[in-house]
Amino acid sequence: MDNLDTVTFGGFWDDRAAHLRGDAAEQAHMRADPSSRAVPLWRGKPLMVGDALGWVSLDADVLDYARDALLFLGLSNGVAHYAVDISAWEPDALDETSLAMFFDPSEQHHASLPPDHLFRELRACMTQLSATDAAMASTARALFHWHRTHGFCAACGSASEWAMAGWQRNCPSCSAQHFPRTDPVVIMLVTRNNRVLLGRSPGWPEGMYSLLAGFVEPGETIESAVRREVQEETGVKTGAVQYVTSQPWPFPASLMFGCSAEALSDEITLDDELEDALWVSREDLVDVFGGVHATIKPARKGAIAHYLLENWLAGRI
Ligand SMILES: [Zn+2]
Repeated sequence: MDNLDTVTFGGFWDDRAAHLRGDAAEQAHMRADPSSRAVPLWRGKPLMVGDALGWVSLDADVLDYARDALLFLGLSNGVAHYAVDISAWEPDALDETSLAMFFDPSEQHHASLPPDHLFRELRACMTQLSATDAAMASTARALFHWHRTHGFCAACGSASEWAMAGWQRNCPSCSAQHFPRTDPVVIMLVTRNNRVLLGRSPGWPEGMYSLLAGFVEPGETIESAVRREVQEETGVKTGAVQYVTSQPWPFPASLMFGCSAEALSDEITLDDELEDALWVSREDLVDVFGGVHATIKPARKGAIAHYLLENWLAGRI
């Protein structure tokens, strides 16, 4: 299924230009080029201007917090694009409660930038971004999380170093090279006749239900991970499994494999992971999507669960 224009973060840009990451002369040239641009992220929140990413020139003051760690995203329309993690910045009057929320509503403004330049939660603005901006923001967010959490060599424990314009970390002690991680996750539209299986995890906003999902374990195929997760979480047995589409999901570093699965049994037996699971009819799901269902709220727009459910309702899956 061609999903490029429909799954958020499923877009791309002209050229990741991987061959330029380790080219010191070319990197120096692009960094000195006044047309090169960078988007700063603060604690995973991209700089936004209205509905677009807030691209700034490479000499912008706001990049001073991490000028030696410019992540090279690649070329778009021939222009070099970078991202910079400025989490070292400490805004005034930080609202830590908001920042810790599932859906952080707070916005941060840096004094060196115009008033409409704001750091915002990516979940809140992801569906407004162009496909290219969304793909670049998700790539930057995932890579910066990897750098923050992989500062030490997994082989010998020494502090590792930023390399290849942000796409690698090298260990100065044992020379091990480390590459960014992406964690495979299956998310599945489990149906039986006219009904779909939804679940909710503890701590989710009230009324929010979504498709079941879980990490793929070493040694598993996507299909066997789907069957295992559904059985573990709900006791429901599944037969045929089909891959539908995928979505990079930088919260923090997943690649979601969207699948459909045919249930062979109805009875739900919850494990500890889920707070609730239930079968929802097509008619009820129409109400959920219309925002008029009495108890269930729809999966968030932009998430692959929303995409799978919407296409199932439309008869395309
Ligand atoms: Zn090492």
